[in-house]
Parts: sequence; C-alpha cells; structure tokens
Amino acid sequence: MTDPTPLNVARPDDERAALLVWMHGTLRPEYGERPLTPRREPLHELISTILSQRTTHADEEAAYRELRTLGDWDAIIAAPVEAVAHAIRRSNYPESKAPRIQATLAALRDSPGGYDLDHLRDLPVKDALKFLTDLPGVGIKTASLVLLFNYARPVFPVDTHVHRVTTRVGAIPRMGEQAAHRALLKLLPPDPAFLYELHVNLLRHGQRVCSWHDPKCGVCVLRSRCDAYAQYGDGVPAWKA
Ligand code: SF4
Repeated sequence: MTDPTPLNVARPDDERAALLVWMHGTLRPEYGERPLTPRREPLHELISTILSQRTTHADEEAAYRELRTLGDWDAIIAAPVEAVAHAIRRSNYPESKAPRIQATLAALRDSPGGYDLDHLRDLPVKDALKFLTDLPGVGIKTASLVLLFNYARPVFPVDTHVHRVTTRVGAIPRMGEQAAHRALLKLLPPDPAFLYELHVNLLRHGQRVCSWHDPKCGVCVLRSRCDAYAQYGDGVPAWKA
C-alpha cells in the first residue's frame, strides 16, 4: 500500500512555499523577532564574509581587525600578498583568501562607484547580484548577504545551516548550496524583513538543534513537519554536503 502522505519534498511549489512560511512562524517564538538592521558597513560586510568561510565568528573578526591595521583599502591592495595572508591568519585558508580579497578590492577600486557600494540600493536585484558575483572573490552567498543585510534587497543567503535545515525538512530537494539560493528564493515572499528573520533563525536552529551530526530532533519545533524525522525518526543521519 502506498503512503497517503507524501514527503514535503514531493509536494508542489505552493505547498513548500507555505511550509517555509510555517517554519518562519514556528522559529520566531524560539529565537525571537529579528529586525533587519545593518550590522556593519557594506564593504566591511563583504570582506568579513570572505574571511568567515570555514572560520569561527571570533576568528573572522580578529582577522578583519588585523587586516585593517595594514592601512586603507588602497594600502591593502598594494601590500605584499604574504603580508595580507599573515594579517588574516586567524581565518582559515589565508593563502587563498588574501589574493581574493586583494583582487576584489582592486576590482571595486577600478569600478565606477569605487569602494562605495551604495548604487546597489537602486539597481534591479538581478543586476546588483551580477555586479557583486562578477567580483573575483565573491560568490552568491556573500553577494546575497551584502544585499539583504546592508540594502534590504529581497534575496536569501544560504549558508551551510540554512541549507541543511531546509533540505532536511524537505522545503527543497537535495542540491548544492549555490542552486539552493535560486530554489529557495523562488518559493519565498519578496519581503526583506521576512527573509532576514528566516535566514538568521534558520542559522540559529542549525547551530543549536539541527546540527550536521546528531541533530536533536527530540527537542526540535520543526519535527512535526520534517521529512528527515518522518523518514529516520531519532536516527537522522549526519549531513553530508
Ligand atoms: S526534526 Fe531533526 S532533522 Fe528535522 S529539522 Fe528538526 S533537528 Fe533537523
């Protein structure tokens, strides 16, 4: 006999869109309302997001602080790449991030707006994303973070926690992080405040409950509608990206 209740992931787009709205409303009492206010200036956000890849928040901040001791952005571009790598050594993979940061800054310096990113506020979202992802060290996650956090543009950054939770629940099928940006954005309302709060609260949930290894399904508020829990019960397997 076939199961009369399909998994979320097999449901049509409108039902998975409604599932994401339910997740937003269910996570809010757990982690609170998250007003959308920029946490740092745009170029700081951009460079810090590059530094944050596979790095703790404390180490990312320490790396950024020491990077800025090299001088202004022009000075960082002109510095020997080894000096930049040394300055950001608290971030993982400093040898690969240092030339990316210098190349990104140089491309911005030579662009019509220079280091000022405020023109992104008025560009169509598609063009703003293209401007940022055309920069040498900037991917879709970094671009989305800057556009949503700093300019309240309706995009949805997908980090490893957001990707894991939304996939396990079944809001999207299994796919890479890059593709998940497009798949989730297609389902979500174009409301920056909603997108910001959902992003931040999914991140919290991924850090505290739906961890990559040994998720705490027994205390999870999403359990009643989670595909992974429906399939595996308390034995949800470790996440493999
Ligand atoms: S029920 Fe388990 S797998 Fe599903 S979202 Fe919660 S912690 Fe993650």
